[in-house]
Amino acid sequence: MIRAAEPEVVVIGGGPAGATTATLLAQRGRSVRLCERERFPRYHVGESLIPETFWVLERLGILPQLRGGPFVEKHSVQFVSEQGRLSEPFYFADYKQHESSRTWQVARQDFDQLMLDNARQHGVDVREGVRVLDVLFEGDRAVGVKTLDESGVEEEVRCRVVVDAAGQSGLILDRLGLRQWDPVLKKAAVWTYFKGAARESGRDAGATLVMQTAGKVGWFWYIPLQNDVTSVGVVAPHDHLFKNRDTKDLEAIFQQEVARCPGVQPRIAEAERVAPYRAAKEYSYRSSKVAGDGWVLVGDAFGFLDPLYSSGILLALRSGALAADAISAGLESNDTSASALGCWGPEYVAGLERMRKLVCGFYDGLNFGRLVRNHGHAKPLITDILIGDIFKGDIDALWPLLDGAKEPTTA
Ligand SMILES: Cc1cc2nc3c(=O)[nH]c(=O)nc-3n(C[C@H](O)[C@H](O)[C@H](O)COP(=O)(O)OP(=O)(O)OC[C@H]3O[C@@H](n4cnc5c(N)ncnc54)[C@H](O)[C@@H]3O)c2cc1C
Repeated sequence: MIRAAEPEVVVIGGGPAGATTATLLAQRGRSVRLCERERFPRYHVGESLIPETFWVLERLGILPQLRGGPFVEKHSVQFVSEQGRLSEPFYFADYKQHESSRTWQVARQDFDQLMLDNARQHGVDVREGVRVLDVLFEGDRAVGVKTLDESGVEEEVRCRVVVDAAGQSGLILDRLGLRQWDPVLKKAAVWTYFKGAARESGRDAGATLVMQTAGKVGWFWYIPLQNDVTSVGVVAPHDHLFKNRDTKDLEAIFQQEVARCPGVQPRIAEAERVAPYRAAKEYSYRSSKVAGDGWVLVGDAFGFLDPLYSSGILLALRSGALAADAISAGLESNDTSASALGCWGPEYVAGLERMRKLVCGFYDGLNFGRLVRNHGHAKPLITDILIGDIFKGDIDALWPLLDGAKEPTTA
């Protein structure tokens, strides 16, 4: 076992949350080592950005690469009913005339690579192919990590702050028994990728479509990516997808759901499948804490929310930025206690909770059209949530209005 030179901060995981935290700390002159178990580029699901990612991407200095990159521009979201009827597109620019209203659909192997390269360029010591085996604690305080590289060498790296950004397989959440499963959002997903699937033209070409299945039991995402590839996946209650049917075969499950979704059927009828079927069976959870003495959780390592409104990368970037600011201040003042490192937790969780309420509203049969017809002032509040501007209290005026705008579902 080697005892390594000591960085101030070790970040576990090089996805969007880890790359964000590490880059912003390095920008402030902090020494950061980031350990990523894979070698990039690596596959990851979760391709649709929402407008409010703009502000963190701007801080990271990565907007020029995104503007000039291969990614498909996304200007809107559109909902498709269980009968296949298209709603009016929801254009972000109608709400805000700002560059942030144009965002992107990103093949994650390329986006995550860009983010990690950007971290390196800002001075982060990025180690790919290095798995963190354990977080080292002295009493309740995290004091470093134990790593294993591809040649089988184990290292102990001491540091002042450990950031767990290891995604859904985060280390600290389970080690400290902090994971709380969402009692309502017991969903699952099956997805794949098609070449040559139908695409709109002009500024609608990159729209995310959310298409309901019969009885509103579930919905398909339809995300146009670069190279004429489209990401298509179904989300529905876990029991509906995996328990209450006579097959476990992912292709059969996917096709049975396609048959229940008039929105998706014609769009993929002539397309060629170009990737295997994949599934996510357990999701929507949250940690009971964002931080402890010497440690912080960011992105999916803190919590994961149903992908209905494509909030995952926004939450990864936002928590990464908030954590970086808290860590930087804590290192400056020599206070890396739980309260200093987690000072951003309440604001962040309140934002997450707002997004969650609108997710639950959708599954509960919320009819956006009816809500806006009955209460004109609800539209900007819903818009705030759909673009990801969720970290402000005035949105809470929406909740009393939701009950009158629900339709029955069979889910
Ligand atoms: C079905 C589905 C659809 C989704 N759709 C969307 C969408 O459209 N839009 C959206 O914004 N989000 C979406 N998401 C969510 C999004 O994928 C995640 O929220 C996002 O990837 C979180 O980023 P992260 O950096 O926290 O974690 P990750 O991106 O998972 O990165 C974690 C990294 O840590 C590494 N790692 C793990 N363990 C270790 C270890 N022990 N040592 C070292 N490294 C380690 C992993 O290799 C990985 O690279 C979706 C999720 C699912 C499940």
